Amino acid sequence: MKSLCRVWVLYLVENKKIVMVGIPGVGKTTLLSKMVEIIKKRHKSVLVISFGTLMFEIAQKNGLKDRDELKKLPVTKQQELQRLVAERIAAQTEQIIIIDTHTFINSPGGYYPGLPENVLKIIKPTNFVSVTAKPEEIYNRRMKDDSRNRDKITIANIKKELDIQSGMISACSIITGSPVKHVLNREGKIDETTDKIINAIGV
Ligand code: ATP
Ligand code: MG
Repeated sequence: MKSLCRVWVLYLVENKKIVMVGIPGVGKTTLLSKMVEIIKKRHKSVLVISFGTLMFEIAQKNGLKDRDELKKLPVTKQQELQRLVAERIAAQTEQIIIIDTHTFINSPGGYYPGLPENVLKIIKPTNFVSVTAKPEEIYNRRMKDDSRNRDKITIANIKKELDIQSGMISACSIITGSPVKHVLNREGKIDETTDKIINAIGV
């Protein structure tokens, strides 16, 4: 009985590390800011980490000027940056940590994983949320955002990217044993989608 109680106490204080993934334009950052509002109202400490921004901050110290140049670095360099970011994330102590990231990055050698096994084993995510949207909606959202230097945009390419995302996130779930919530972020339905995520992760 005593050991059972101890397990229960550990369960109650366990932090959640939620990894939100989705191809550019699905709405990750928009949903995240809504999630944070809800979590704060529930008096829990929450930290949002943009994996790419943290990689860029570290790379800037080594002379990189533009965030969109990150994906042009040699894959070995990007892997080293990924590991450094994962170690920073693992050191955070908030009750809820949400990581905003991509499941893959385009490289001349093909798609390479945003969350390779070594990174997952450092971060130890408790939940994955895979955000998708209709390809046409993603296309329109990307076209409206001219602040980013994006890869070539076609509907066919967006469909292919959604397929790759689905395969990559399944692999993440298998490696970590943590569940994946798949959500469709419908146009104009940000609040509805946010509620679905909040209920699924149980915060
Ligand atoms: P990136 O990976 O490039 O950072 P992202 O997944 O974080 O992309 P956002 O920046 O959150 O995507 O959203 C892209 C655009 O789509 C924004 O202009 C946002 O306001 C809009 N958007 C997001 N979700 C919805 C929605 N459900 N309905 C309408 N517009 C949306
Ligand atoms: Mg974003």
